[in-house]
Amino acid sequence: MDTLTLPTALLLWAAGYLIACTLFPFAACRNCQGSGKFRSPSGRAWRNCRRCKGTGRRIRLGRRIWAKARRVL
Ligand SMILES: [Zn+2]
Repeated sequence: MDTLTLPTALLLWAAGYLIACTLFPFAACRNCQGSGKFRSPSGRAWRNCRRCKGTGRRIRLGRRIWAKARRVL
């Protein structure tokens, strides 16, 4: 791999990642694997996930970067 290939590949990857984040801004919450709830320690009740407030989704990091970048541009 020559010196030009790596930066170009990185740039393409970053562009593709940002596009993916604008098309699919939400990813499954890592805390509850997208279900939005999890079992309480007693194992009898379901509780809303605190991290995503029961939605089961989280906004991807790239989406926030994209929103910031758009404000700057
Ligand atoms: Zn969650």
